[in-house]
Amino acid sequence: MSKLQDQDGFVGIEQLPTLDANTLVVDAFKRINQLNSRGFIFENRQRESYVDAVTLAEAMASSSDVKAGLEDAHATLGWLFETPETASAVTAFNTTTLSPDEDPDRIAEAARQGITLVESDADRLGVLFPDLKLFELGTRRIYFVCEDGDRNLSPDQGRCGYCGKPITGTIVA
Ligand SMILES: [Zn+2]
Repeated sequence: MSKLQDQDGFVGIEQLPTLDANTLVVDAFKRINQLNSRGFIFENRQRESYVDAVTLAEAMASSSDVKAGLEDAHATLGWLFETPETASAVTAFNTTTLSPDEDPDRIAEAARQGITLVESDADRLGVLFPDLKLFELGTRRIYFVCEDGDRNLSPDQGRCGYCGKPITGTIVA
């Protein structure tokens, strides 16, 4: 029996997109919403961190600098995380090596240390969250909402894909 995968706080790698600095912002949110994920693993210069997509979307929708930058259709995650407003969405991982049938006490101890990237030998297995409520969206999605209330699955270029008006906020629904 694989104990690690049964832990409440564990999310397998198949539910968490791994995105890098060259990923387009537009594509990032499409991937997140396809998986009904709440976040992603961000790889930048050989370092990984966890990004909470809801916090990120809220920060983006409330920042005029970010919205101005998104007018460039080639805006990347690398660019986005150079913007101070979005930094609060990024959390450094604890990294730990656990085997799939690890001692539950050791798993619990790792979970207490914070959001933990779990690796076994050379394989990345997933992420261990102290509280799974931090992660789960289930069937809900992150929408970028325009002045008129239209719901977009990605921020596109800071404007609504239906009516062209500015994105003014986010909702999770
Ligand atoms: Zn609209």
